Amino acid sequence: MRVPCRLKPGLRTSVRLLLLIAGLVFLPVGRALAWNAPGHIIIAAEAWRELPAKFQKRASELLKHHPDYAKWEKAFATEAPDMDADAFIFMRASTWPDEIRETKSEYNHPHWHFINYPLKPKSFPKEPAPSSTEDVLFGIEQCEKTLADTRAPAELRAVYLSYLIHLVGDIHQPLHCCSLVDKTYPKGDKGGNDFYVKPGERGISLHSLWDGLLGRSVRPRSQWNEAIQIEAEHPRKSLPELNRARTPKDWSLESRELAIEKAYLRGKLKGGTDWETAPSLPADYTKSAKAVAERQAALAGYRLADAIEKYLR
Ligand SMILES: [Zn+2]
Repeated sequence: MRVPCRLKPGLRTSVRLLLLIAGLVFLPVGRALAWNAPGHIIIAAEAWRELPAKFQKRASELLKHHPDYAKWEKAFATEAPDMDADAFIFMRASTWPDEIRETKSEYNHPHWHFINYPLKPKSFPKEPAPSSTEDVLFGIEQCEKTLADTRAPAELRAVYLSYLIHLVGDIHQPLHCCSLVDKTYPKGDKGGNDFYVKPGERGISLHSLWDGLLGRSVRPRSQWNEAIQIEAEHPRKSLPELNRARTPKDWSLESRELAIEKAYLRGKLKGGTDWETAPSLPADYTKSAKAVAERQAALAGYRLADAIEKYLR
């Protein structure tokens, strides 16, 4: 259930925005690669809440075969004993593909987290991504195939379930579906990782800014409440895209479009090549970007739940 809050809705939004901006200002400078962990966990919590009990059970049974299951069980006991254990573990599974990125794990697929559709101002012609394998579409396809194959090894299916939970989140982050190509970035800005802006006093990459838009709370209960709030503000019936865009390719093209319109402001957003020369963001940029991110998180949660129902039959 939602935690009671004494602030009026308008004021609550302003406070959340202030906290968000404060969080962005103190971000370490570096290369960001995905929604941050709370973003993925919130999307997973939304999907969990959407799943019928039968599919929650199937997902939980499968995750027991995951290589990190014992670690998650232990974390549950110390971090969130007041929560439902299965929900907590499903939420924790969402960040695992990022956690193994710096390791030699046989399951590490660093290129599955994004797709680099080139964005070329001013007309932004639709062009295919440079590689048609080893991108987020390929990754989601592997998840679907493995989950649908009940004869595949249980550990592999558990790993691919955590990948599916993660990648459906990633594909809804607009900057995971583009790379700006112009005079400054002839080889592309890597989804805003090389494009710096200043939301406050300090410059950060545009990618990092977008990764952090779903908040920074590390408390599972707060993340759960955030998921409830996003779903309440974006019920299924308010999202015509759920019927319109049904495949991962469609979702990636939606994100590409949002990257053009909302992240790069159709090529009008000014950026720098490092955090020191980063220009200030236009007023209200972060506020409207946050609204986009929350809507994307709602879509991701519903689509993830639908995909799990489809593949864990
Ligand atoms: Zn990722």
